[in-house]
Amino acid sequence: MKKLVLLIGIFLLSCGSTQKSVEFTPISLANTITAVELKEHLYTYASDAFLGRETGTEGETIAINYLKNEYESLGIKGGMPNGDYFMPMSLKVSRENQTIDCNNVLAFIEGSEKPEEVLVITAHLDHIGVEKDGQINNGADDDGSGSVAILEIAEAFQEAIKQGHRTKRSILFLHVTGEEKGLLGSKYYTDNPVYPLENTVANLNIDMIGRIDKLHEDNPNYMYLIGSDILSQDLHDVSEAMNQKYVNLELDYRYNDPTTEVFERGRYRQNNYYYRSDHYNFAKNDVPVIFYFNGTHADYHAPTDTVEKIEYELLEKRTRLIFLTAWEIVNRDDRIRLKE
Ligand SMILES: [Zn+2]
Repeated sequence: MKKLVLLIGIFLLSCGSTQKSVEFTPISLANTITAVELKEHLYTYASDAFLGRETGTEGETIAINYLKNEYESLGIKGGMPNGDYFMPMSLKVSRENQTIDCNNVLAFIEGSEKPEEVLVITAHLDHIGVEKDGQINNGADDDGSGSVAILEIAEAFQEAIKQGHRTKRSILFLHVTGEEKGLLGSKYYTDNPVYPLENTVANLNIDMIGRIDKLHEDNPNYMYLIGSDILSQDLHDVSEAMNQKYVNLELDYRYNDPTTEVFERGRYRQNNYYYRSDHYNFAKNDVPVIFYFNGTHADYHAPTDTVEKIEYELLEKRTRLIFLTAWEIVNRDDRIRLKE
């Protein structure tokens, strides 16, 4: 009998210690995001078959169906109230003086403890289509890179569920259209949010993270983060902490100041990046944002923005940081707070 008690005691002790030794960290999930898979996705998503993914064209239809199929095969449900993936819209494009029927794509993972609090991860699914002379703008970096990054991030979160680690808060994977026509799909979403903006804890927006700009040719281990500390110190601190703990990219904040000049279209001008991608529609509604960006390059908005020019190892590293930051935002005890 004594022996039995002793044995049970040892068993219980060892259970305790095993539990401690398998304390969960998100790094194994981050490691499921790989250069190989990102490349595989992008070689399809930014191929000629997608016709430059212009909003309202056949190319966009091909793109949204691709995204929907990927989420279906991952087992992640649609983010619309009825479970659909597509958010249909009629967008007025003032530049072109016409109305275009098109769709955002939404996929949703529900949180376990605070399902009403939602992190939104965005990338624009559209690009600028086909040139008059027939050349296709594949938009491998803009924004094929962000689109496939979200697919890999979603897969990592779904893997967490399989391993028994459903996130505490919910996550909306939001692929917006109409970015290239004036941030229209994200504006439509924030004007007609499926999940209330008061409970949208943050927006992480990924737009061009697969290349290296002129300023970093000699030290490519970088990414620009824009806006991280503008509305929330918490968000900035979480992002910095996850980078220091796991990834060690050089986070470059120079474009946090919209007046910092960049050389574009033949002359120096204020960058204004804080206002130039989809996160701004969240920021203007007081949702804290981070815009992830590699800067512009000679192939920006040209048919030469193609898949073989993407730095896949770097894309992997940047995507892992965004996943880890998202992981912390949706699992930490306290919601990200706005500055006073
Ligand atoms: Zn873009």
